[in-house]
Amino acid sequence: MYKIAVIPGDGIGTEVINSGVEVLQALSKIVPNLPIGFNHFDWGAKYYKENGVMMPDEGVDELKDYNAIYFGSAGVPDIPDHITLWGLRLKICQGLDQYANLRPVKLLPGISSPLKNVEEKDIDWSFIRENSEGEYSGIGGRSHRGYSNDTAMDITLFTKQGVERIQKFAFEIARSRPRKLLTLVTKSNAQKHGMIMWDEIFKEISEDYRDVNTDKMLVDAMTTRMVLDPKSIDTVVASNLHADILTDLAASLSGSMGIAPTANLDPDKRHPSMFEPIHGSAFDIMGKGIANPIGSYWSAVMMLENLGELQAAQKLMFAIEKLTKDKKVLPKDLGGTNTTKQITKAMIDIISGKNN
Ligand code: ATP
Repeated sequence: MYKIAVIPGDGIGTEVINSGVEVLQALSKIVPNLPIGFNHFDWGAKYYKENGVMMPDEGVDELKDYNAIYFGSAGVPDIPDHITLWGLRLKICQGLDQYANLRPVKLLPGISSPLKNVEEKDIDWSFIRENSEGEYSGIGGRSHRGYSNDTAMDITLFTKQGVERIQKFAFEIARSRPRKLLTLVTKSNAQKHGMIMWDEIFKEISEDYRDVNTDKMLVDAMTTRMVLDPKSIDTVVASNLHADILTDLAASLSGSMGIAPTANLDPDKRHPSMFEPIHGSAFDIMGKGIANPIGSYWSAVMMLENLGELQAAQKLMFAIEKLTKDKKVLPKDLGGTNTTKQITKAMIDIISGKNN
């Protein structure tokens, strides 16, 4: 029995993850030998208001007993974002050393990109985000708060070990894909210490991956390339901040923020990995029942792949693609009129063969 820790969190996170769990339960009934057990954790903003922390201190250790973590989002309007982010999602990612953040980006059948003249095959990217250090190292400080010389500092940290492991992971992903093309995103023209090391290590590692073609882009130029020449991109590796920004752009170019999935991986498999849609709590639509749950389904596909359940993963991906291709039941952000509940039902019908 696979033990999945379910942390719906806040806002639309709860809506889309509950939908994803229902869909996975339906899947486990029809795929032979896919026993999944879910344990729900009520961590998040409500827990914070009652206990003063987003999750208990021993929570990270508790998660080590699970095969995977299925996460929604963290954040509500009346608690500062840095408290909700650092208190839950980043606490788990860093506590379990999930150093590789993998974000597939594809134009699903039936979905149109805001870009002109772009076909389905033109957007098929794999983004790898460094997930443990860089600009989000958490090191820094603040002094003289409230005075005219108020001063704040965030330190960007690059370690040789941290850079090597994420770039090797990216080369492995690039090698496993048909085009074998890896783009390094950098900003070494302006950031002349960490980013220079980032570039140097990339060059060294590339010697061991001569079958992978490489190129290098400044992060600002990368945004332009994604918009003007999407076909030229395949696998991309970037620092924590750069990839955070680029993948929001990537999600929008592939149709909507509501579709995109992500995996926070410990590639060394010492600890469970965590799977989540890339969007946040989306305060503007939370509680309305109209959140697009496709990102949570696609995250579940990644979770099944990580567990080695390839047949179940394929079946779920097929169901997502059928849903978007048929266009009969779609959420508002994809031009439809359906609620999260109606989409959940449509997915369960596809999976159980009632809608083929
Ligand atoms: P973050 O935690 O990244 O700050 P956020 O809540 O500020 O998150 P995002 O999740 O980045 O916002 O989403 C931006 C907007 O995109 C939302 O306000 C919402 O309108 C839309 N959106 C995001 N996800 C979905 C979804 N699953 N379904 C429908 N609309 C969505």
